Amino acid sequence: MRPFSYERPASVAAAVAAAAQRARPRTPPTQSDAQFIGGGTNLADYMKLGVAQPERLVDLNGLDDPGLRRIRVDDDRIVFGSLVRMSDAADHAEVRRRCPLVAESLVLAASGQIRNMATLGGNVLQRTRCEYFRETSWACNKRQPGSGCAAMDGFNRQHAVLGGSDQCIATYHGDFAQALIALDARVVVEGQQGARTMAFAELHRLPGDTPNIETALGPADIIVAIEVPLGPWSARSRYLKIRDRESYAFALASAAIALDMNGDTVRHARIALGGVATVPWKAKAAEEALQGKVLDKSAAHAAAEAAFADARPHEHNAFKIPLGKSTLVRALLETRDMKV
Ligand code: SF4
Repeated sequence: MRPFSYERPASVAAAVAAAAQRARPRTPPTQSDAQFIGGGTNLADYMKLGVAQPERLVDLNGLDDPGLRRIRVDDDRIVFGSLVRMSDAADHAEVRRRCPLVAESLVLAASGQIRNMATLGGNVLQRTRCEYFRETSWACNKRQPGSGCAAMDGFNRQHAVLGGSDQCIATYHGDFAQALIALDARVVVEGQQGARTMAFAELHRLPGDTPNIETALGPADIIVAIEVPLGPWSARSRYLKIRDRESYAFALASAAIALDMNGDTVRHARIALGGVATVPWKAKAAEEALQGKVLDKSAAHAAAEAAFADARPHEHNAFKIPLGKSTLVRALLETRDMKV
């Protein structure tokens, strides 16, 4: 591990200022710039592996704003402070009752120890577990722009079939983010230009030609809150995750579903897919396919076909397309049958 400086500011403004004072300003930001640390469950791993090599570490755990650690449930939304631990959000009785999808995505995301440590803000910014990204001897455009992508001709069973580019096909492995993008959540960000709110769908960037630039955040931007709208769809919601083993594993395929129903007919479906795409993946074509339809097996299969119409398999991951479709069909029918 390389030497780095460490600071623990007391306010968001001081943390933003600390991150903005980079030793060597670069555009775009690199692995060597200042980085924020919350729970550290992802960043500490990557620092030990030599993947992340920040010159300055800005610890957010000393921030004194109580809103950063609060969960507020209103009639029309839930607001999570970004330093709320995953376990506190997953175990919150009102979150579980009002929007089970959010709680389930957090419970299924990680072990109890990690949930106790990891923050919600850090969770949505977690980086890919592509094996070639994690091992610095391999070519990786995300870690070292322009070096190539070892996964293209390598072992790509875990990799994405949606949202990839010729430069990168790494899967986004998070679960909570699938709930957030399905539910049209928003994030509140503070940075050098003050506070702003953005749609969660705008936070993560497709890899395109610059897979090293993963989000729309600037190097000194801090997520301070996550807002989840509530409505007729929230209680009828769930998260289904399919993986190699039943615990402590990333999704091979997952589905985040929230349904606003009028009897058997879909007023509006909110759908996201995990384990199959390079970013949190809103399945808009599947949502549109279900609009105004009676949700039976046939409609669920049609939605699944629409969701994967643009999928591009690689040598070892073609199985994710039928698995992703069957995961979505099962999740839709189970969500339809929930007693709410
Ligand atoms: Fe790197 Fe992306 Fe290729 Fe993995 S898939 S080796 S993260 S460029």
